[in-house]
Amino acid sequence: MFDVAVIGGGSTGTSIAYHLARRGYRTALVERRGIGAGMTALSTGVVRSFYSVPEVARMAAYSHSYFLRFAEEHGVDVFTRCGLIVVGRGPDADAIRANVEMLRGMGIGVRLLAPDEARALVPGLEVGEGEAAALEEGAGYADTTATARAFHESFLAHGGTHIADEAVALRRGEGGVEAALCRRGEVKARTYVVATNVWANRLLSQIGAELPIRVVREDIMVVDRGAWLVGTHPVVADLANNFYMRPEGDARSLVGSLDPGPRHVEDPDAFNPTASHWLESAPAYAEAIARRIPPLAHAGAAGGWSGLYDVTPDWQPIVDWVDANVLACVGLSGHGFKLAPALGLLAAELVEGGPRTFGNPFALDRLRRGAHRASRYSAKVVG
Ligand SMILES: Cc1cc2nc3c(=O)[nH]c(=O)nc-3n(C[C@H](O)[C@H](O)[C@H](O)COP(=O)(O)OP(=O)(O)OC[C@H]3O[C@@H](n4cnc5c(N)ncnc54)[C@H](O)[C@@H]3O)c2cc1C
Repeated sequence: MFDVAVIGGGSTGTSIAYHLARRGYRTALVERRGIGAGMTALSTGVVRSFYSVPEVARMAAYSHSYFLRFAEEHGVDVFTRCGLIVVGRGPDADAIRANVEMLRGMGIGVRLLAPDEARALVPGLEVGEGEAAALEEGAGYADTTATARAFHESFLAHGGTHIADEAVALRRGEGGVEAALCRRGEVKARTYVVATNVWANRLLSQIGAELPIRVVREDIMVVDRGAWLVGTHPVVADLANNFYMRPEGDARSLVGSLDPGPRHVEDPDAFNPTASHWLESAPAYAEAIARRIPPLAHAGAAGGWSGLYDVTPDWQPIVDWVDANVLACVGLSGHGFKLAPALGLLAAELVEGGPRTFGNPFALDRLRRGAHRASRYSAKVVG
């Protein structure tokens, strides 16, 4: 009998399992594929504190500082600092200005950028009339799978048990769930934590705890920047043209959307991330980049892939009890990688008896009451 069984070994589940094992809980981690091989592996891994919802910004800032000292705790450096420029127009420009003020008030290092400063950071980047740009200098990106693997290694080092299996069902008894029924046998624990991302409802619906999560496809395009922009560059998140772009080595960048639109996917198991879905988004991404950074109009597509987001009604995670002894940490809505350190801490505190460090901004009740924690921005994934 374990104290806790965590189901799902992505960035979320491994962080939770590590935080629990470190506190001395006898913890099992059930993962049916490889560690970090789910949506974590398909993530672009942008790490920023630039959020408009203060409670989420606080958790993001905590996570950012965790990534900065990741090697001290886990023996491997996973974070690359490159900075982040957020740019938008109209109501998004107003939101950027207000957000900079809010984040500065919280002690988070952001500032507004004049157009020529933005151009100095990304040659050719245009910030037009009626637009606003902001810089978060400390932001960057992390190696997502290496992060999950490092959490997992540390989890094992603290005595955690890895169970390579699939939880196909949860069996309920009088006082809650009695066992996770895996293909090779039962895993029994006092508490279960479900961190299965887009596969959450498959498991939770069996105990009548289906959550308001829809599954949405996001396409990533790899861009060969060409001679114009060689070396690294800050992540550019362009609300006006619906794209973001982060460096991948000195010559390439990864490009995705800030609003993937209504691309619902019914069955995550039938989804092939390496199919050519991304080609559907490629023309729109290329036009968007050329509008913001005209010299990159001749950049070339070098490939791509797609991933899935587990999207809640307000595009914020759900971290809450869904049965007497079942904690869900799901619905990360396309921005949950960077929050992994904070989510691990929050989930461990909830198992321990109650949230202390951040409170719990992701309680399910907010959605039932219609008290959404939605972003100020038109693109809700920005948060
Ligand atoms: C294309 C893309 C780009 C993204 N970019 C960013 C970004 O820049 N910054 C950011 O912060 N976030 C980003 N995200 C979001 C972020 O990557 C995810 O929110 C996060 O990695 C999800 O981690 P997870 O552990 O919850 O899920 P996953 O990594 O999907 O892990 C869930 C695991 O559960 C396992 N599992 C499922 N069902 C079972 C079962 N029944 N039994 C056992 N195991 C099971 C799966 O095999 C899987 O390994 C992006 C996501 C995508 C798809």
